[in-house]
Amino acid sequence: MILPAEKSNRYLRHTIMPEIGASGQTRLLESHIAVFASSARCVAPLLYYLVSSGLGNIKCFIEGIEGISPLVENLRDLNPDVNIIEMIELSDAAEVFHNCSGNTEKNTSCRIIFGNYDFIKNIIKSINNINDRCKTHYVPTIIAAVENWQGIIQAVKKPENTFLFNNTVSGHAIISTAPANKLAVGYLFSCCLAGALAAIESIKLCLNIGNFLECPLYFDLLTMNFKKLNGNDNIPNAHHLPSEEKPDDIQNKILDSKVLIVGTGGLGSPAAYALSLSGVGSLGLVDSDRVEISNLNRQILHSTSRIGTPKVKSAEVFIRKLNPNINVITYETRFTKSNAMRIIRDYDVIIDGVDNLPTRYLLNDSCFFAEKTLVEAGVLRFEGLGMTLVPKKGHCYRCIFPEPPPANSIPSCSQAGILGPVPGVMGFIEAAEAFKLLAGIGKTLQSQLLIFDALDLDFRITQVKRDENCPLCGEMPSIKEPIEYEI
Ligand SMILES: [Zn+2]
Repeated sequence: MILPAEKSNRYLRHTIMPEIGASGQTRLLESHIAVFASSARCVAPLLYYLVSSGLGNIKCFIEGIEGISPLVENLRDLNPDVNIIEMIELSDAAEVFHNCSGNTEKNTSCRIIFGNYDFIKNIIKSINNINDRCKTHYVPTIIAAVENWQGIIQAVKKPENTFLFNNTVSGHAIISTAPANKLAVGYLFSCCLAGALAAIESIKLCLNIGNFLECPLYFDLLTMNFKKLNGNDNIPNAHHLPSEEKPDDIQNKILDSKVLIVGTGGLGSPAAYALSLSGVGSLGLVDSDRVEISNLNRQILHSTSRIGTPKVKSAEVFIRKLNPNINVITYETRFTKSNAMRIIRDYDVIIDGVDNLPTRYLLNDSCFFAEKTLVEAGVLRFEGLGMTLVPKKGHCYRCIFPEPPPANSIPSCSQAGILGPVPGVMGFIEAAEAFKLLAGIGKTLQSQLLIFDALDLDFRITQVKRDENCPLCGEMPSIKEPIEYEI
C-alpha cells in the first residue's frame, strides 16, 4: 500500500511503525467514526486527536454546539484530509442513537459516546434497549463519562458488555453525585485526558491492534489514581476540594501564575491547550523549530496553513484564539546552557515538552539549580512516561537515569514513530500536574513515576526515592552546573 507523497509525510510517525504502516494509515483514512457528545467544548480535545491522526470521516452529534464554528475551522486546518461530514445538533441523544437502522450505522467503523454522566446515562439506556437485529450489527462503541477531574472509559465490542460499564457507574458515589464544583477546570482536564484516550481506543479498534479496554478504566487526575474496574469493583468516592481552598481563591492564584513550556511539539501542544483554557495568566513557549507537515499527526497547536511558520508563533496564534486574555511570551530559540537559567528564572512551574535527551538533561539540571519544579514527560511509539520533579523534596531525572545513554542507542520519535494521541495523554497530564502545583491542590507525581502503555490502555505508578548517590541531587554531587550534552 503506497500513500501519496504528501499523505506519507503527514503520517510518517505512524507509518514507520510496523503495527500501522501505510496500509494501516490507509485504513484509518477510510474509516467512519460517529461521535455522540454532550457539548462541543468537552469533545474538542477528542476531535483534535481524531482529526490529526487521520481518522478519515467523522460525523458528530452534539447536544451543546456553542463554540462549534471556530472548532471546525481549526480542525479543517489541522488536517484537510479528514472529512468532517456533519456537525449535527442533537436534541435527543438517546433517540438518534437508538435509531440504529439509520445512516449512523452504515459503514461505521466505531462510535464514540463522550460527555458528562447524565448524557452517558441516557444514551446507555438506549443501548440496553436495542433490538436483536441491531445487536447482530453492533458497531464497536467507546464510552467515556467525564466529570470534575475524574472519568471512566470503556471500549464495548458486544452490547451486553455495556452492562459492565452501566453497573460500575450506577449506584456509586462517583461522578454523578460529585459536588457542584465551581472549579470547572477539573472538568476541562478530564475531557482532555478522556479525549486523548478515546482517540487511542478508536485507532486500536479500526486497526485491530493492542488490547481493547473491555474493563472500564477509571481515572482521577486530582489524586492520580488510575484503576481498571471489574464488575464488582467499587469506584472510589467523589472527593471535594480541600475545604480551606475556595475555587475563587484558586482561580486568582492561577491567574497570577506563569508556566513555561519548553518545546511546542507533541507534548507542548496538549499542555499549552489545557493550560490556556485553565485560566493560567502567563504562558512562556520555547522552540526554535518551524512547523512541518510531519508534525501534524499529533501537534494540535499547529496547522496546515501555518507550515513553515516558527512553532512558537504558530502556537501563539492558536492559544490566543482559545483564550484572548492570556499573556503569551515566546522564545524563538534553542534552549541552551547559555539561556536556560535566564529563561526559567521568571516562571513558577516548568513543563518539559522537549524531543531529545540532551535538552531533557539540561532542563533537569537547570531546574534543580534554579530550584524550580519541573513537570517531566517523554513518549515513544505507544508508550509514555511522566513524573514531577520538585528540587530537594523529591527525586530528579538523574536519580533514575544518571547519565544519557550512548548516542543512537535509543531511537527518537522520528526513527521509531509515535502514535498521535499518546503525547496528547502525557501532555494533558503534565498540564494537570502544573495546575495542581500552582493551585496547591490534590496529589502530584512528586516522588512517583507514571508509565502509560497505550496498547493496553494501562497506567502504572511506582514510588521513586531520591537517590543519595545521584550525581546531581545526591549527598556528594559531582555536577556543579547544568550540563549540555551534544545533540
Ligand atoms: Zn537526583
